[in-house]
Amino acid sequence: MSELNKQGFSTKAVHAGVVPDPTTGAIMTPIYATSTYVQASPGKHKGFEYSRTGNPTRRALEQSLAALESGKFGFALSSGCTGVDLCMHLLQQGDHVISVDDVYGGTARLFRTVWAHHGLEFDFVDLANQALGDFIKPNTKMVWIESPTNPMLKIIDIRKVVETAAKHQARPLVVVDNTFATPYFQQPLSLGADIVLHSTTKYLNGHSDVVGGALVTNDDKLAARLAHLHNSQGGVQGPFDSWLVLRGIKTLALRMAQHEKSALEIAKRLEAHAQVESVIYPGLSSHPQHEVAKKQMTGFGGMITFFIRGNLDNSRRFLEQLRLFGLAESLGGVESLAEHPAIMTHASVPAEVRKKLGISDTLVRLSVGIENLEDLWLDLDGALKASA
Ligand SMILES: *Cc1c(COP(=O)(O)O)cnc(C)c1O
Repeated sequence: MSELNKQGFSTKAVHAGVVPDPTTGAIMTPIYATSTYVQASPGKHKGFEYSRTGNPTRRALEQSLAALESGKFGFALSSGCTGVDLCMHLLQQGDHVISVDDVYGGTARLFRTVWAHHGLEFDFVDLANQALGDFIKPNTKMVWIESPTNPMLKIIDIRKVVETAAKHQARPLVVVDNTFATPYFQQPLSLGADIVLHSTTKYLNGHSDVVGGALVTNDDKLAARLAHLHNSQGGVQGPFDSWLVLRGIKTLALRMAQHEKSALEIAKRLEAHAQVESVIYPGLSSHPQHEVAKKQMTGFGGMITFFIRGNLDNSRRFLEQLRLFGLAESLGGVESLAEHPAIMTHASVPAEVRKKLGISDTLVRLSVGIENLEDLWLDLDGALKASA
C-alpha cells in the first residue's frame, strides 16, 4: 500500500457503508433495534424482512468491513469463532484442512475438538518453514492461515500459499485470519486469498467492549453460500454491537499507526534489555520472516512476544508488577495488555503442541496500546527489573 492508499484507507474507515439517515439527516448510523419490518403488501418491503437475515445497522458495518478489506461482500458475526465455524460449514465430511500450526487457540479448539468429530481432517503445519505443496492431498479443500500468527508472530507468505493452492487439482480455498495485521497493514484478498476472517473484538472495534467477528470475500458464489449459512446458522452481530464496531472502525487508521509506532520502539528497547532473553516482532531485522513481512505488509502491528530471562517465577513476577499494562487475555484495544500464553490464552492447546511451538513458561505476549510511550516503557522496565 502506498501512502496515498493509506490516506484513502482512513477516508474509507470514516465513510464506507455510512450515509446520513434518510428520514432525519442523522450523520451517525442509527441503532435499528428491531427484529422485524412492516411490509406494504405481502412480499413488498424496503429490503429488510427479519433481522437475522438483514438489519440496517449491521448492513452499514458489513459494507464498511468489505470496503476496508478491498472486498465486495462483508458479513458481521456474533464472534470471530462464529466466522471460523461458518467457514467449516463450507466443507463436507471427508474434507481435509491444512492449518498453520501456530493458529489461534480458539480456532484450534474448534478444529481439534469439534469439527474433527464431524468427519473433517486437519493437519497443522509450520507454513513459515515448510512447503504447503508437500501436505496437499486430493481431499484438501481449505488452507487456513494467520499471519502474523498468535502468539509466535510467524509470518506466512500469503501470495505463495495462494499460488501453491491454485496449482493443485483440489484447488483448496485459502482463508486468512487477518485479525493481528488488520486491513490497515495487510489486505489478503489483494494477495489472492478467497476469504478474510476477523475477530472484530480486537483491533477493528479497538475498545475492548464488544465480541464480534467478520468474513469478507470478493467471490460472488462464495458470498452467496456464506449469506445462506449466515442466515441459516444465525450467528449474526446484533445492532448495538454493530454500531459500536462501526464507531470503532472510524479511528482504525489513527490507532494502528500509533500501535505500530510504539510497538516498534518497545520491541527495540526490549531487545536491548538485560532481563529479556529474546524478542519476536515482525518489524525487527532479527525476525526470521522480516523480509516476507516487509513484502506483504505496510507495517508490523502492535503485538510483541518475548522470552523473559529465568523461569515461570520470573514471568509471574513481571506480570504481577505491571501497573499500566492490564494482565488480561484479548488484544487490540486502546489500552495496553500483557498475558502469559501458556497459562492463559493457549491453555487449551495440548501441552506437547505448545512445547513444539515454543510457547514456554517464559513467553510473554504484549498488546501495545495507544498510551504515552514513555509511560508504557517505565511500566515495562520497572516490572522487568522487579522480575529478576
Ligand atoms: C480472538 C481471536 C479469534 C476469535 O475471535 P472471538 O471474537 O474471540 O471469537 C480468532 N482469531 C484470532 C487471531 C484472534 O485473536
